[in-house]
Amino acid sequence: MSQRLADLDRKHVWHPFTPMAEWMASEPLIIERAEGSYLVDTEGRRYLDGVSSLWVNVHGHRKAAIDEAIREQLERVAHTTLLGLASVPSIELAARLIAVAPEGLTRVFYSDSGSTAVEVALKVAYQYQRQRGAPERSRFGTLAGAYHGDTIGSVSLGGMDLFHATYRALLFESLKVDPQDLGALDAFFEAHGGELAAFVMEPLVQGAAGMILQPPGFLRRVRELCDAHDVLLVLDEVATGFGRTGTLFACEQEGVRPDVLCLAKGITGGTLPLAATLFTEAIHDAFLGAPEEARTFFHGHTYTGNPLACAAAIASLRLFEEERTLERLQPKIAQLSRRLEALAARADVVEVRQRGFMVGIELESSDPLRRRGVRVCAKMRERGVIVRPLGDVVVLMPPLAISGEELEQLLDVTAWALEEVPA
Ligand code: PMP
Repeated sequence: MSQRLADLDRKHVWHPFTPMAEWMASEPLIIERAEGSYLVDTEGRRYLDGVSSLWVNVHGHRKAAIDEAIREQLERVAHTTLLGLASVPSIELAARLIAVAPEGLTRVFYSDSGSTAVEVALKVAYQYQRQRGAPERSRFGTLAGAYHGDTIGSVSLGGMDLFHATYRALLFESLKVDPQDLGALDAFFEAHGGELAAFVMEPLVQGAAGMILQPPGFLRRVRELCDAHDVLLVLDEVATGFGRTGTLFACEQEGVRPDVLCLAKGITGGTLPLAATLFTEAIHDAFLGAPEEARTFFHGHTYTGNPLACAAAIASLRLFEEERTLERLQPKIAQLSRRLEALAARADVVEVRQRGFMVGIELESSDPLRRRGVRVCAKMRERGVIVRPLGDVVVLMPPLAISGEELEQLLDVTAWALEEVPA
Protein backbone atom coordinates (compact mmCIF):
# COMPACT_ATOMS: atom_id res chain seq x y z
CA MET A 1 0.00 0.00 0.00
CA SER A 2 2.74 2.49 0.81
CA GLN A 3 4.41 1.88 -2.58
CA ARG A 4 1.12 2.78 -4.24
CA LEU A 5 0.89 5.94 -2.13
CA ALA A 6 4.49 6.86 -2.91
CA ASP A 7 3.83 6.51 -6.64
CA LEU A 8 0.67 8.61 -6.43
CA ASP A 9 2.46 11.26 -4.39
CA ARG A 10 5.22 11.55 -6.96
CA LYS A 11 2.64 11.67 -9.70
CA HIS A 12 0.16 14.17 -8.25
CA VAL A 13 1.32 16.11 -5.19
CA TRP A 14 3.27 19.34 -5.64
CA HIS A 15 5.12 19.82 -2.37
CA PRO A 16 5.72 23.30 -0.92
CA PHE A 17 9.25 24.73 -0.80
CA THR A 18 10.44 21.48 -2.40
CA PRO A 19 12.75 21.02 -5.39
CA MET A 20 10.36 18.65 -7.17
CA ALA A 21 12.82 16.98 -9.57
CA GLU A 22 14.85 15.79 -6.60
CA TRP A 23 11.69 14.84 -4.71
CA MET A 24 10.31 12.71 -7.53
CA ALA A 25 13.61 10.83 -7.71
CA SER A 26 13.44 10.01 -4.00
CA GLU A 27 11.38 7.78 -1.75
CA PRO A 28 8.86 9.93 0.16
CA LEU A 29 8.44 9.44 3.88
CA ILE A 30 4.68 9.12 4.32
CA ILE A 31 3.25 9.86 7.75
CA GLU A 32 0.19 7.92 8.73
CA ARG A 33 -0.34 8.80 12.38
CA ALA A 34 1.30 10.34 15.41
CA GLU A 35 1.34 10.28 19.19
CA GLY A 36 2.97 12.70 21.61
CA SER A 37 6.31 13.84 20.19
CA TYR A 38 6.44 11.06 17.59
CA LEU A 39 5.27 10.69 13.99
CA VAL A 40 4.67 7.20 12.62
CA ASP A 41 5.06 6.36 8.92
CA THR A 42 3.20 3.86 6.75
CA GLU A 43 5.82 1.21 7.58
CA GLY A 44 5.24 1.69 11.31
CA ARG A 45 8.58 3.46 11.85
CA ARG A 46 8.61 6.13 14.58
CA TYR A 47 10.23 9.55 14.21
CA LEU A 48 10.74 12.26 16.80
CA ASP A 49 9.02 15.43 15.51
CA GLY A 50 11.99 17.76 16.00
CA VAL A 51 10.37 20.75 14.28
CA SER A 52 6.87 20.40 15.70
CA SER A 53 5.41 19.75 12.24
CA LEU A 54 6.72 23.09 10.98
CA TRP A 55 6.73 24.95 14.30
CA VAL A 56 3.09 24.40 15.18
CA ASN A 57 2.81 21.55 17.65
CA VAL A 58 2.64 22.57 21.31
CA HIS A 59 1.18 19.87 23.55
CA GLY A 60 2.19 16.83 21.49
CA HIS A 61 0.20 15.04 18.81
CA ARG A 62 -3.23 13.56 19.49
CA LYS A 63 -3.60 15.49 22.69
CA ALA A 64 -6.86 14.12 24.10
CA ALA A 65 -8.31 17.44 25.30
CA ILE A 66 -7.84 19.09 21.88
CA ASP A 67 -9.05 16.09 19.88
CA GLU A 68 -12.10 15.88 22.15
CA ALA A 69 -12.88 19.60 21.72
CA ILE A 70 -12.75 19.20 17.95
CA ARG A 71 -15.03 16.13 18.10
CA GLU A 72 -17.52 17.94 20.35
CA GLN A 73 -17.63 20.89 17.98
CA LEU A 74 -18.07 18.51 15.06
CA GLU A 75 -21.22 17.21 16.75
CA ARG A 76 -22.60 20.75 16.50
CA VAL A 77 -21.32 22.21 13.22
CA ALA A 78 -18.08 22.01 11.22
CA HIS A 79 -18.22 25.38 9.52
CA THR A 80 -20.31 28.53 9.35
CA THR A 81 -19.24 31.92 8.03
CA LEU A 82 -18.22 35.03 10.00
CA LEU A 83 -19.36 37.29 7.16
CA GLY A 84 -22.55 38.72 8.62
CA LEU A 85 -22.90 35.91 11.17
CA ALA A 86 -21.31 35.07 14.50
CA SER A 87 -20.40 31.65 15.90
CA VAL A 88 -20.00 30.33 19.43
CA PRO A 89 -16.34 29.16 19.32
CA SER A 90 -15.05 32.26 17.48
CA ILE A 91 -16.58 34.51 20.15
CA GLU A 92 -15.22 32.49 23.03
CA LEU A 93 -11.77 32.25 21.49
CA ALA A 94 -11.63 35.99 20.79
CA ALA A 95 -12.32 36.74 24.44
CA ARG A 96 -9.69 34.25 25.57
CA LEU A 97 -7.07 35.60 23.17
CA ILE A 98 -7.68 39.15 24.35
CA ALA A 99 -7.40 37.99 27.97
CA VAL A 100 -3.92 36.52 27.44
CA ALA A 101 -2.59 38.96 24.82
CA PRO A 102 -0.57 42.08 25.72
CA GLU A 103 -2.70 44.85 27.19
CA GLY A 104 -4.37 47.26 24.81
CA LEU A 105 -5.40 44.74 22.14
CA THR A 106 -9.17 44.40 22.04
CA ARG A 107 -10.21 43.21 18.55
CA VAL A 108 -9.63 39.89 16.82
CA PHE A 109 -9.74 39.45 13.05
CA TYR A 110 -9.57 35.80 12.03
CA SER A 111 -7.95 34.23 9.00
CA ASP A 112 -6.30 30.93 8.13
CA SER A 113 -2.49 31.14 7.99
CA GLY A 114 0.45 33.21 9.12
CA SER A 115 0.64 34.84 5.70
CA THR A 116 -2.98 35.94 5.81
CA ALA A 117 -2.57 37.18 9.39
CA VAL A 118 0.21 39.47 8.15
CA GLU A 119 -1.72 40.42 5.01
CA VAL A 120 -4.64 41.52 7.20
CA ALA A 121 -2.28 43.57 9.39
CA LEU A 122 -0.83 45.31 6.34
CA LYS A 123 -4.13 46.21 4.74
CA VAL A 124 -5.68 47.38 8.01
CA ALA A 125 -2.62 49.53 8.83
CA TYR A 126 -2.70 51.11 5.37
CA GLN A 127 -6.44 51.77 5.45
CA TYR A 128 -6.28 52.99 9.06
CA GLN A 129 -3.78 55.70 8.15
CA ARG A 130 -5.93 56.88 5.25
CA GLN A 131 -9.10 56.92 7.34
CA ARG A 132 -7.54 58.89 10.15
CA GLY A 133 -6.34 61.50 7.67
CA ALA A 134 -2.69 60.49 7.26
CA PRO A 135 -2.59 59.08 3.70
CA GLU A 136 1.09 60.01 3.39
CA ARG A 137 1.77 57.15 5.80
CA SER A 138 1.66 54.49 3.13
CA ARG A 139 4.92 52.57 3.53
CA PHE A 140 6.15 49.78 5.76
CA GLY A 141 9.33 49.41 7.76
CA THR A 142 10.71 45.89 8.25
CA LEU A 143 13.86 44.08 9.33
CA ALA A 144 16.41 43.03 6.72
CA GLY A 145 16.22 39.35 5.82
CA ALA A 146 12.64 39.12 7.08
CA TYR A 147 10.14 36.38 6.29
CA HIS A 148 6.46 37.07 6.92
CA GLY A 149 4.75 34.62 4.57
CA ASP A 150 4.22 33.78 0.91
CA THR A 151 1.32 35.96 -0.24
CA ILE A 152 2.31 39.00 -2.31
CA GLY A 153 1.82 41.49 0.52
CA SER A 154 3.74 39.44 3.05
CA VAL A 155 6.46 38.71 0.48
CA SER A 156 6.76 42.48 -0.06
CA LEU A 157 7.80 42.75 3.58
CA GLY A 158 10.28 39.94 3.12
CA GLY A 159 13.94 40.06 2.34
CA MET A 160 14.96 36.50 1.58
CA ASP A 161 16.30 36.69 -1.95
CA LEU A 162 16.15 32.96 -2.66
CA PHE A 163 12.40 32.96 -2.00
CA HIS A 164 11.47 36.49 -2.98
CA ALA A 165 13.69 37.85 -5.77
CA THR A 166 11.70 36.19 -8.59
CA TYR A 167 8.58 38.19 -7.71
CA ARG A 168 10.23 41.59 -7.31
CA ALA A 169 8.21 43.27 -10.07
CA LEU A 170 4.98 42.18 -8.38
CA LEU A 171 5.89 43.56 -4.97
CA PHE A 172 5.68 46.92 -3.23
CA GLU A 173 8.90 48.18 -1.73
CA SER A 174 9.37 48.03 2.03
CA LEU A 175 12.03 49.95 3.96
CA LYS A 176 14.53 47.78 5.75
CA VAL A 177 16.62 48.17 8.85
CA ASP A 178 19.44 45.93 10.14
CA PRO A 179 17.99 43.65 12.87
CA GLN A 180 21.31 43.50 14.72
CA ASP A 181 22.08 47.19 14.82
CA LEU A 182 20.29 48.98 17.63
CA GLY A 183 22.21 52.14 16.77
CA ALA A 184 20.75 52.31 13.25
CA LEU A 185 17.15 52.48 14.45
CA ASP A 186 17.07 56.16 15.39
CA ALA A 187 18.42 57.30 12.04
CA PHE A 188 15.99 54.98 10.21
CA PHE A 189 12.99 56.49 11.98
CA GLU A 190 14.42 60.00 11.57
CA ALA A 191 14.56 59.44 7.81
CA HIS A 192 11.34 57.48 7.30
CA GLY A 193 9.16 57.94 10.41
CA GLY A 194 6.81 60.34 8.64
CA GLU A 195 6.00 58.03 5.72
CA LEU A 196 5.47 54.79 7.61
CA ALA A 197 2.02 53.33 8.13
CA ALA A 198 3.56 50.64 10.32
CA PHE A 199 6.75 48.94 11.34
CA VAL A 200 6.44 45.16 11.04
CA MET A 201 8.78 42.73 12.78
CA GLU A 202 9.17 39.42 14.54
CA PRO A 203 10.03 40.19 18.18
CA LEU A 204 13.30 38.87 19.70
CA VAL A 205 14.06 36.34 16.99
CA GLN A 206 13.54 36.19 13.24
CA GLY A 207 12.64 32.55 12.67
CA ALA A 208 12.66 31.65 8.99
CA ALA A 209 15.38 34.27 8.40
CA GLY A 210 17.70 31.77 10.10
CA MET A 211 16.92 32.10 13.81
CA ILE A 212 18.48 35.56 13.94
CA LEU A 213 18.50 37.02 17.46
CA GLN A 214 18.04 40.72 18.13
CA PRO A 215 20.19 42.51 20.70
CA PRO A 216 18.49 43.10 24.08
CA GLY A 217 16.46 46.31 24.07
CA PHE A 218 15.98 46.30 20.29
CA LEU A 219 12.24 45.65 20.42
CA ARG A 220 11.76 48.18 23.22
CA ARG A 221 13.59 50.83 21.20
CA VAL A 222 11.43 50.10 18.14
CA ARG A 223 8.34 50.59 20.31
CA GLU A 224 9.66 53.92 21.63
CA LEU A 225 10.47 55.12 18.12
CA CYS A 226 7.08 54.02 16.77
CA ASP A 227 5.46 56.04 19.56
CA ALA A 228 7.68 59.06 18.92
CA HIS A 229 6.95 58.99 15.18
CA ASP A 230 3.26 57.99 15.43
CA VAL A 231 3.86 54.72 13.57
CA LEU A 232 1.90 51.51 14.25
CA LEU A 233 3.92 48.60 15.61
CA VAL A 234 2.90 45.28 14.07
CA LEU A 235 4.43 42.23 15.74
CA ASP A 236 4.47 39.00 13.79
CA GLU A 237 4.36 36.32 16.49
CA VAL A 238 3.35 33.60 14.05
CA ALA A 239 6.52 31.68 14.91
CA THR A 240 7.40 33.11 18.34
CA GLY A 241 3.89 33.01 19.80
CA PHE A 242 2.31 30.43 22.09
CA GLY A 243 5.29 29.75 24.29
CA ARG A 244 8.04 29.21 21.72
CA THR A 245 10.45 31.68 23.29
CA GLY A 246 9.59 30.69 26.88
CA THR A 247 6.80 33.23 27.49
CA LEU A 248 3.35 33.02 25.93
CA PHE A 249 4.30 35.88 23.59
CA ALA A 250 7.88 36.98 22.90
CA CYS A 251 7.08 40.70 23.27
CA GLU A 252 6.33 40.16 26.98
CA GLN A 253 10.05 39.71 27.57
CA GLU A 254 10.70 43.37 26.75
CA GLY A 255 7.44 44.62 28.24
CA VAL A 256 6.29 45.77 24.80
CA ARG A 257 2.66 46.14 23.75
CA PRO A 258 2.10 46.16 19.99
CA ASP A 259 -0.71 47.93 18.16
CA VAL A 260 -1.21 44.85 16.03
CA LEU A 261 -0.33 41.23 16.82
CA CYS A 262 -0.24 38.47 14.17
CA LEU A 263 -0.85 34.93 15.43
CA ALA A 264 -1.09 31.55 13.67
CA LYS A 265 0.91 28.29 13.80
CA GLY A 266 0.73 27.28 17.50
CA ILE A 267 -2.66 28.92 18.06
CA THR A 268 -4.55 25.59 17.73
CA GLY A 269 -1.78 23.65 19.46
CA GLY A 270 -0.77 22.61 15.95
CA THR A 271 -3.95 20.77 14.98
CA LEU A 272 -5.96 22.86 12.51
CA PRO A 273 -5.24 25.91 10.36
CA LEU A 274 -6.23 29.16 12.03
CA ALA A 275 -4.82 32.66 12.35
CA ALA A 276 -5.78 35.79 14.23
CA THR A 277 -4.69 39.39 13.87
CA LEU A 278 -5.30 41.40 17.03
CA PHE A 279 -5.82 45.17 17.03
CA THR A 280 -6.25 48.02 19.48
CA GLU A 281 -9.63 49.69 19.87
CA ALA A 282 -8.20 52.91 18.39
CA ILE A 283 -7.44 51.14 15.12
CA HIS A 284 -10.84 49.47 15.02
CA ASP A 285 -12.53 52.83 15.73
CA ALA A 286 -11.15 54.24 12.47
CA PHE A 287 -13.25 51.69 10.59
CA LEU A 288 -16.55 52.82 12.10
CA GLY A 289 -19.09 54.95 10.24
CA ALA A 290 -22.23 54.76 8.15
CA PRO A 291 -22.11 52.09 5.39
CA GLU A 292 -22.01 54.79 2.70
CA GLU A 293 -18.78 56.16 4.16
CA ALA A 294 -17.12 52.88 3.07
CA ARG A 295 -14.85 52.74 6.09
CA THR A 296 -15.42 48.99 6.26
CA PHE A 297 -12.53 46.54 6.08
CA PHE A 298 -13.49 44.72 2.88
CA HIS A 299 -11.47 41.59 3.46
CA GLY A 300 -12.15 38.06 4.65
CA HIS A 301 -11.56 34.48 3.69
CA THR A 302 -14.20 31.80 3.26
CA TYR A 303 -13.04 29.66 6.20
CA THR A 304 -12.23 32.62 8.45
CA GLY A 305 -12.83 31.75 12.12
CA ASN A 306 -13.62 28.12 11.37
CA PRO A 307 -15.48 26.69 14.40
CA LEU A 308 -13.48 23.43 14.58
CA ALA A 309 -10.20 25.36 14.56
CA CYS A 310 -11.49 27.85 17.14
CA ALA A 311 -12.61 24.98 19.39
CA ALA A 312 -9.11 23.48 19.11
CA ALA A 313 -7.54 26.84 19.96
CA ILE A 314 -9.73 27.27 23.05
CA ALA A 315 -8.74 23.77 24.22
CA SER A 316 -5.07 24.55 23.61
CA LEU A 317 -5.20 27.77 25.66
CA ARG A 318 -6.93 25.87 28.44
CA LEU A 319 -4.11 23.31 28.42
CA PHE A 320 -1.51 26.07 28.84
CA GLU A 321 -3.24 26.84 32.17
CA GLU A 322 -4.19 23.35 33.32
CA GLU A 323 -0.85 21.77 32.52
CA ARG A 324 1.27 24.80 33.45
CA THR A 325 2.94 24.35 30.06
CA LEU A 326 5.17 27.43 30.32
CA GLU A 327 6.31 26.68 33.87
CA ARG A 328 7.19 23.12 32.92
CA LEU A 329 9.01 24.35 29.83
CA GLN A 330 11.63 26.35 31.76
CA PRO A 331 13.82 23.44 32.96
CA LYS A 332 13.70 21.98 29.44
CA ILE A 333 14.94 25.29 28.01
CA ALA A 334 17.85 25.11 30.47
CA GLN A 335 18.50 21.47 29.52
CA LEU A 336 18.54 22.47 25.85
CA SER A 337 20.99 25.32 26.56
CA ARG A 338 23.35 22.96 28.40
CA ARG A 339 23.39 20.46 25.56
CA LEU A 340 23.81 23.18 22.92
CA GLU A 341 26.96 24.47 24.62
CA ALA A 342 28.84 21.36 23.52
CA LEU A 343 27.61 21.76 19.95
CA ALA A 344 28.58 25.44 19.87
CA ALA A 345 32.14 24.48 20.81
CA ARG A 346 32.54 22.32 17.69
CA ALA A 347 34.91 23.61 15.00
CA ASP A 348 32.33 22.77 12.30
CA VAL A 349 29.63 24.92 13.91
CA VAL A 350 29.67 28.66 13.19
CA GLU A 351 27.17 29.63 15.86
CA VAL A 352 24.33 28.23 17.94
CA ARG A 353 21.41 30.60 18.44
CA GLN A 354 18.73 29.86 21.00
CA ARG A 355 15.76 31.72 22.41
CA GLY A 356 13.63 29.40 24.52
CA PHE A 357 12.55 26.48 22.34
CA MET A 358 13.71 28.13 19.09
CA VAL A 359 17.15 26.91 18.07
CA GLY A 360 19.31 27.48 15.00
CA ILE A 361 22.64 25.67 14.64
CA GLU A 362 24.59 27.43 11.90
CA LEU A 363 26.96 24.99 10.25
CA GLU A 364 30.40 25.55 8.83
CA SER A 365 30.38 24.28 5.30
CA SER A 366 32.58 24.25 2.25
CA ASP A 367 29.51 23.46 0.13
CA PRO A 368 28.75 26.54 -2.04
CA LEU A 369 25.15 25.35 -2.46
CA ARG A 370 24.70 25.41 1.33
CA ARG A 371 23.48 21.83 1.35
CA ARG A 372 25.24 20.59 4.48
CA GLY A 373 22.14 21.51 6.46
CA VAL A 374 20.02 19.34 4.16
CA ARG A 375 22.49 16.46 4.43
CA VAL A 376 22.67 16.66 8.23
CA CYS A 377 18.87 16.63 8.48
CA ALA A 378 18.64 13.67 6.06
CA LYS A 379 21.18 11.82 8.21
CA MET A 380 19.12 12.45 11.33
CA ARG A 381 16.19 10.59 9.77
CA GLU A 382 18.27 7.43 9.75
CA ARG A 383 18.19 7.63 13.54
CA GLY A 384 14.49 8.44 13.70
CA VAL A 385 14.49 12.24 14.03
CA ILE A 386 12.73 14.66 11.68
CA VAL A 387 14.11 18.18 11.40
CA ARG A 388 14.28 20.71 8.56
CA PRO A 389 17.11 23.13 7.87
CA LEU A 390 17.06 26.74 6.74
CA GLY A 391 20.04 26.70 4.38
CA ASP A 392 23.01 25.74 6.52
CA VAL A 393 21.12 26.37 9.74
CA VAL A 394 19.74 23.22 11.37
CA VAL A 395 16.55 24.17 13.20
CA LEU A 396 15.44 22.46 16.39
CA MET A 397 11.89 23.36 17.45
CA PRO A 398 10.40 20.41 19.33
CA PRO A 399 6.89 20.43 20.80
CA LEU A 400 6.82 22.36 24.09
CA ALA A 401 5.51 19.19 25.77
CA ILE A 402 8.52 17.07 24.74
CA SER A 403 9.93 15.00 27.63
CA GLY A 404 13.44 15.42 29.00
CA GLU A 405 14.44 12.01 27.58
CA GLU A 406 13.08 12.84 24.14
CA LEU A 407 14.99 16.12 24.23
CA GLU A 408 18.16 14.14 24.98
CA GLN A 409 17.42 11.93 21.97
CA LEU A 410 17.02 15.00 19.76
CA LEU A 411 20.38 16.41 20.87
CA ASP A 412 22.18 13.04 20.75
CA VAL A 413 21.08 12.45 17.17
CA THR A 414 21.99 16.02 16.17
CA ALA A 415 25.51 15.60 17.55
CA TRP A 416 25.85 12.19 15.86
CA ALA A 417 24.73 13.58 12.47
CA LEU A 418 27.25 16.44 12.66
CA GLU A 419 30.00 13.82 13.11
CA GLU A 420 28.67 11.80 10.17
CA VAL A 421 28.35 14.73 7.75
CA PRO A 422 31.66 16.62 7.73
CA ALA A 423 31.91 20.26 6.69
N1 PMP B 1 5.32 34.86 9.73
C1 PMP B 1 6.30 34.14 10.30
C2 PMP B 1 7.16 34.78 11.32
C3 PMP B 1 6.50 32.80 9.94
O1 PMP B 1 7.48 32.09 10.49
C4 PMP B 1 5.64 32.22 8.98
C5 PMP B 1 5.76 30.78 8.53
N2 PMP B 1 6.92 30.12 8.79
C6 PMP B 1 4.64 33.02 8.41
C7 PMP B 1 4.51 34.33 8.82
C8 PMP B 1 3.71 32.48 7.37
O2 PMP B 1 2.86 31.56 7.94
P1 PMP B 1 2.07 30.52 7.03
O3 PMP B 1 3.08 29.56 6.50
O4 PMP B 1 1.11 29.88 7.98
O5 PMP B 1 1.40 31.29 5.97
